[in-house]
Amino acid sequence: MIPAGFEYHRPGDIASAIGILQEHGDEARVIAGGHSLIPMMKLRMAEMGHLVDLQAIEELKGIEIGAGTVSLGAMVTQHELITHDGLATAIPLIREAALQIADPQVRYVGTVGGNVANGDPGNDMPGLMQCLNATFELSGPDGRRSVAAREFYEAAYFTARDDEEILTRISIPVPGAGVGQAYEKQKRKIGDYATAAAAVMVGNGHASVAMTNLADTPVWSESASNALADGDVSGCVAAMLDAIDPVADNRGPVEFKKHVAAVMLRRAIERAQSRAG
Ligand SMILES: Cc1cc2nc3c(=O)[nH]c(=O)nc-3n(C[C@H](O)[C@H](O)[C@H](O)COP(=O)(O)OP(=O)(O)OC[C@H]3O[C@@H](n4cnc5c(N)ncnc54)[C@H](O)[C@@H]3O)c2cc1C
Repeated sequence: MIPAGFEYHRPGDIASAIGILQEHGDEARVIAGGHSLIPMMKLRMAEMGHLVDLQAIEELKGIEIGAGTVSLGAMVTQHELITHDGLATAIPLIREAALQIADPQVRYVGTVGGNVANGDPGNDMPGLMQCLNATFELSGPDGRRSVAAREFYEAAYFTARDDEEILTRISIPVPGAGVGQAYEKQKRKIGDYATAAAAVMVGNGHASVAMTNLADTPVWSESASNALADGDVSGCVAAMLDAIDPVADNRGPVEFKKHVAAVMLRRAIERAQSRAG
C-alpha cells in the first residue's frame, strides 16, 4: 500500500519532460493516469526516484477526427474515448472496447497512451490498435518517430519505446463505411483483464483480427486476417489458434484459454459481419 519515496515533476511541454527523463535516466518514469503504475509502486514492484507527470502537457490531449485519420493524444482518458460522439461514429470499435476496460473510476483517469505504452499483455487497447493498424508517435532526445502498433510489442513489458521516449499521439486510419467492427472479451468480473478477447474488423474485401492476453504480447495475425477476408471463418480461427501462445494462470489452463479464444473470436466475427455492408 505504501510506495517508496520519489520526487515529483510536472513539466508543461514535451521537451521539458524528455529533458527530465534524460537527466535522471533509469531513475525516472512518466506517469499518465497512474492506474497501472501506482498499483505497482504500492506493491514496490516499481520503484523510481522521479515521477514525471504528463497531465499539464496540452499537446498530449485531444481527439482529432480527420477525413481519413483519427488522432488520439496519449493523455486522452478512457472516459473521453467513450463519450466522444465523433469518435464513436468514426471508429465505433474503440468505444465498444473502452467500455469493457476496468470500471468508471479507472476510466476517468486511465489514458489510452498509458494503456498502449504499459506493455502488459492484459491491456485491451494494444490488440485493438493492432487490429485497426494504428501508428504510435514517439518523441525522444533524437526527435520524433512513428512505430506501427503491429511492431511495437516485443515481450511482456518490453516495447519498441526507448526509456527516454514519450508516446505522444496515436494515429488510426478510419476504417470507412461498410466495415463492421467488434470487440468481444471474456473476463471473470468487471475490471478483470481478459481470459481472452478478440478485436475484429471485416468488410469491403478486407479483414483484420487481433487478440488480447493470449501471449506475452497482443497477437495480430496476417494469415487469420487474410482467411477472414476470404470469408473463411474456420480458417481464420485455426490460424489465430496457431498464432497465440497462452500460459496457464488463475484464469485457467492453456486448453481452456484456447477454447475461450476461439469462442471470443467467432462471436466477434459474427457481430462484426452483422455490422458490415
Ligand atoms: C482495477 C483496475 C482494473 C483494470 N482493468 C483493466 C482492463 O480490464 N483492461 C485494461 O486494458 N486495463 C485495465 N486496467 C488498467 C488501466 O486501464 C490503466 O489505467 C492503463 O493500463 C494504464 O493507463 P494509465 O494512464 O493509468 O497509465 P500509468 O499507470 O500512468 O502508466 C502505465 C505505464 O505506461 C507508461 N506511460 C504512460 N503514459 C505514457 C506515455 N505517454 N509515454 C510513455 N510511457 C507512458 C508509464 O511510465 C507506466 O510504465 C485496470 C486498472 C485497474 C486499477
